[in-house]
Amino acid sequence: MPFMLNRRAFLASTAGFIALHPFSARAQANQAHLRIMETTDLHVHVFPYDYYADREVDTVGLARTSALIDQVRAESTNSMLIDNGDFLQGNPMGDYIAYERGMAEGDMHPVIAAMNTLGYDAGTIGNHEFNYGLSFLMNSMAGANFPVTLANVAREMGASPREDQTLFQPYVILDREITDGAGETHPIRIGLIGFVPPQIMNWDRGHLEGNVQARDIVDTAAAYIPQMKEEGAEIIIALSHSGIGAADHSDGMENASVPLAGLDGIDAILTGHHHRVFPGPDYEGTAGVDAATGTIMGKPAAMGGFWGSHMGLVDLMLERDGNTWRIASHISEARPIYLRNEDRSISPTVESVESVLAAAQTEHDATLAYVRRAVGQTDAPLHSYFALVADDPSVQIVSNAQTWYIAQMMQGTEHEDLPILSAAAPFKAGGRGGPDYYTDVPTGDIAIKNVADLYLYPNTVRAVRITGADVREWLERSAGMFNQITPGQADQVLLNPDFPSYNFDVIDGVTYEIDLSQPSRYNNDGEVVAPDAHRIVNLMYDGAPIDDAAEFIVATNNYRAGGGGHFPGASPETTIFEAPDTNRDVIVRYIVDQGTISPSADANWTFAPLPGTTVLFDTGPAGAAYADSVAGVSIEPAGEGPDGFARFRITL
Ligand code: MN
Ligand code: MG
Repeated sequence: MPFMLNRRAFLASTAGFIALHPFSARAQANQAHLRIMETTDLHVHVFPYDYYADREVDTVGLARTSALIDQVRAESTNSMLIDNGDFLQGNPMGDYIAYERGMAEGDMHPVIAAMNTLGYDAGTIGNHEFNYGLSFLMNSMAGANFPVTLANVAREMGASPREDQTLFQPYVILDREITDGAGETHPIRIGLIGFVPPQIMNWDRGHLEGNVQARDIVDTAAAYIPQMKEEGAEIIIALSHSGIGAADHSDGMENASVPLAGLDGIDAILTGHHHRVFPGPDYEGTAGVDAATGTIMGKPAAMGGFWGSHMGLVDLMLERDGNTWRIASHISEARPIYLRNEDRSISPTVESVESVLAAAQTEHDATLAYVRRAVGQTDAPLHSYFALVADDPSVQIVSNAQTWYIAQMMQGTEHEDLPILSAAAPFKAGGRGGPDYYTDVPTGDIAIKNVADLYLYPNTVRAVRITGADVREWLERSAGMFNQITPGQADQVLLNPDFPSYNFDVIDGVTYEIDLSQPSRYNNDGEVVAPDAHRIVNLMYDGAPIDDAAEFIVATNNYRAGGGGHFPGASPETTIFEAPDTNRDVIVRYIVDQGTISPSADANWTFAPLPGTTVLFDTGPAGAAYADSVAGVSIEPAGEGPDGFARFRITL
């Protein structure tokens, strides 16, 4: 059957990319099309549903990706379906199974049940499969009706990879029949070999230390490829649950797909872990990578986004070469389940496949109940009405969770003795969002769906290692939130309206005051504009003035550590830890671990006193109920503000 590039795929491949297409031609008698479909980083997303927001969405869900899979199968002579890992954890359905229902021997995991309806040919294991422990993982995989390969994790390590006692079979060789262009069938032996970042030993130390060990991805591959060839693999495909990173191999690298693809004997590579799309502009300019045609070191490759957003597709034109098959030409693609329109609205490209939904319906319904009911308690209200003028419980809880998590992640590393600080900013703090745009969770029950309110963005946790001087500059940048205030004058406008609240980082673990009489040292773009000005005063660590040369670990997120907002000290160069976990997941884990959280703000920052000076500040009218309990600031109602906001007066 001739291959047709459909319109959706064409649209997806635009953004500067017009794919060359070798499959407009029919396979000849000595040729066969083989279409390899990939799902990756599903993270338990079966339904097109955002459980945090408690609403349907069109951007996620294996039920949608399955419709793309069905389409390809309907138009293909030969196809395979592979999952590239990270399917057991990452949304509240995963947490529901792990924390509530359980995953005993013989239990079926809903994402496996859904995958079982699709006839996967094989899968590999991602780093998140280890998050709930080894027995959870092994009980889950016992239910899979497809083989799973993982080469670089061993229960007992031998002298070389081939002597390891691996946790899963290191590779699989599938004996298949393939139909050529003349309609004749031929046998083919396809080797598949899976890999996970060896960083699992750090990320899930508590579950893994003493139980398994992990090896370098590239070294492990180099050891097994000759063995796979000896056993008759004609085509070898790497299932690399690893991102597309540096071209040069370094020992133990997390994102090893480029040097892995460069190994002799690897014919094609499916990637993941990065939650990006390949081919596509995400990887433009990456060494060894052709982001337009979808090759890595010249080998066909794909990455199918995340949460079911895309299906990766590697099309191979195989040709008989004596007794074996070789790849004559190829093309890669990532097909989306939705398109983003110019006005940012979303149009789904496919509808859900009912049989996939049905396989997880019971657990989906149970998850809805789970996100709506209490999973913990808060003994203080979690609100953000005063987050821009005082230390605040909605920011404090984020820092409490981040510090708790990073302390675990630093154990056993060279950084473990350094003090841990945490940076967090209020995300929902009125402004252009309007007078109702605040976090407001009352004392008492706290539900999973409240966590989305506490942490609006699906960021991931990062940590940077910086000096005391950097901490001060970070806070100076943050203090651009405020207008310069003239001492002795009444009722001045406090907030700089052009400064987004998500750039108002509060750093927990130090104490400091903000002197509003000074101009801001930084402008809204993070450039130093008042080099002699210092708003941050009395910056103390552990009760003493901070040592500019002392080193600290600061917990933050991927946006800030990636350079977002241009905060001094926050950059890829200072980043010493990139967590696989989202800040939201960490907050959920923290609440489940603690049972009752005590997010009372500790007033670790205040405005420096300016006698005889008052400022005005607008917030949501519902904040009035909390005004008496705001820590470290003298605040009183001052009537109505514009556009439905309530006005307050602060005496500095
Ligand atoms: Mn992932
Ligand atoms: Mg605090």
